[in-house]
Amino acid sequence: MADATEVVRVLIADDDAVDRAAVHRMLSRSEPAFALSEAATAQALLERLASDTVDVVILDRHLGDAEGLDLVPLLLGAERNAPPRCAIIMVTGLGDERSAVRALRAGVHDYLPKDGLNREVLEQSIHGCLRWLDNERERRETTQRLTRLGMYDTLTGLPNRNLFYDRLEQARLATARGGAPFALFMMDLDFFKEVNDTLGHEAGDRLLHEVGHRLRGITRQTDSFARLGGDEFAGLLVGVDSIEAAVAVAEKVCASIREPVLIDGQMVSVGVSVGIALVRDPNLDARALMCWADQAMYRAKREGRDYDVFSEHDELPEARPLLIAAQLQQALDRNEIFLHFQPKIDLGTGEVVGFEALARWISPTLGEVSPAEFIPIAERSTTIRRLTHRVLELSLEQIRCWRESGLDTSVAVNVSARALDDDGLGPFIASELEARDVPARVLTLEITETALVASTARARSVLRAITDLGVSISIDDFGAGYTSFRYLRELDISEIKVDGLFVTHLEGGPRDSSIVRSIAELARGFGVRLVAEGIESADLWATLRGLGCHIGQGFSIARPMAGAEIPLWERSWLSRVRTQREFYSGVRRVAAAELRRSRASNDGVSAYDQ
Ligand code: C2E
Ligand code: MG
Ligand code: MG
Repeated sequence: MADATEVVRVLIADDDAVDRAAVHRMLSRSEPAFALSEAATAQALLERLASDTVDVVILDRHLGDAEGLDLVPLLLGAERNAPPRCAIIMVTGLGDERSAVRALRAGVHDYLPKDGLNREVLEQSIHGCLRWLDNERERRETTQRLTRLGMYDTLTGLPNRNLFYDRLEQARLATARGGAPFALFMMDLDFFKEVNDTLGHEAGDRLLHEVGHRLRGITRQTDSFARLGGDEFAGLLVGVDSIEAAVAVAEKVCASIREPVLIDGQMVSVGVSVGIALVRDPNLDARALMCWADQAMYRAKREGRDYDVFSEHDELPEARPLLIAAQLQQALDRNEIFLHFQPKIDLGTGEVVGFEALARWISPTLGEVSPAEFIPIAERSTTIRRLTHRVLELSLEQIRCWRESGLDTSVAVNVSARALDDDGLGPFIASELEARDVPARVLTLEITETALVASTARARSVLRAITDLGVSISIDDFGAGYTSFRYLRELDISEIKVDGLFVTHLEGGPRDSSIVRSIAELARGFGVRLVAEGIESADLWATLRGLGCHIGQGFSIARPMAGAEIPLWERSWLSRVRTQREFYSGVRRVAAAELRRSRASNDGVSAYDQ
């Protein structure tokens, strides 16, 4: 009874005709009038409720053919989250408190003894019922709406990622039980970013809305298209069991999305890349299947084609990478990824110049998985974007915590080439920095040399936008790939990291030391700082300094550790450095005196040459 102008329908259920008539009489004089009806048995009451709408039931505690209390759940309606069908006032000849509590607990709204019952008491109770009904209906509707919002994308009205995974899982289970095979689509719009950038986010939203509309237009009842986020969409086509059939749908999708859209008086047209996976053997979990389609989508995009197909005949990935790919998605959902930080120090003074953030993952089923294994797998799909965002968030959060406790230091985050191929990265970094009030100067992105050389024009423009924010760029694993000096000039590089391989082999012969020396010269020439990584032995510190490399990182300084351990480590490191410095300056004084005395040649010893 949401509308105040609507008449309130009251049903009096009592097996005693006299009592029934008494209540009827009392309420028949009410203003505004109630629509009154009666039932003498439980059966009559339930039949009435099934056919008519009733707002309030005045229910006798004992009906001839049932106990009033047993009827309560049936009257309220047992459906989970559905609004209550009616409110119940229980009337009884016995006014004992324990029964009243039981009745109220069962969901009865009010409990009134028959003696002492009058019109006023009944009316008050009915109005209380109506208020409760209104509140309850509103509350349940809100819950339903929120549940719906949790499953649907508000912009396009399409199912969201959660609902899509659920449907995919249902389809997979059905196929496993011998049901129809299905095709899976992963779709990513082309030029969406350009629309957003040139016409604004509102235009971008309108475009996404239109894409949702068009996808709905081409779906059959058994198909399900979803928006996974950003400009990423997915499709589930149940019963599609051949590549030809899947391709026919993909062509329809591409043609439909390519049709221009009129936004703010301007014709806008975008494209889409579709990755298709045909699923006949559903033994893999839903996320692994998505990876197949995702890989195909990425290949289509890379090769400039509308769609590409990943089928069982394709280069089927090994089981473990596929498992890792699937579990990594879950790991991100469940916040299983965390970071360790490894210090970089000035090899001359021992001063800590910053930290490198390294991703760590302990999977509940696979155990600890090394980033050297999971990063390349993440790089094969769009998972790398999520992972990069997570690592950046965690790093910036750690910087914020350290700054709060007085530690002002910088952190370098490793970023893969594919994560750079995302115009959203710059704005993401800008907003994450701002949200935590962290200055851009304390953030460095480490990009491997190979990634830089193979980078797309878009990736390089993303990098330029990021350096414009004040974030530094470091070239990681330098010397391991094909060197291209062009990027050193083209991009605003602040640091070069000599690949650990050369550092490890330094003691082995002159070839590696001449490589390090020439990289050091190059760094000096370009005015960028040089870091040697993978220093496993303290004996190498002096050699590296001699070769012109003044910053070092490696197990001989510290292993990567949790962010919370850093302040304590730094204190003990600095005190070690101080003690050593004092010790060696003492040694130097004694040695100098000795030298003066013996007039020997001056071959002084420095603090860090030991
Ligand atoms: P990297 O960026 O070159 O990081 C240095 C790696 O060398 C780290 O391995 C570190 O633990 C290890 N290391 C440090 N000191 C020594 C040493 O003295 N000796 C030896 N043998 N190794 C040392 P980790 O943590 O296993 O990471 C491996 C690679 O995975 C990283 O190489 C980086 O390329 C990648 N990676 C790690 N975290 C991320 C991330 O968040 N995003 C991306 N895109 N890549 C990451
Ligand atoms: Mg690195
Ligand atoms: Mg490296």
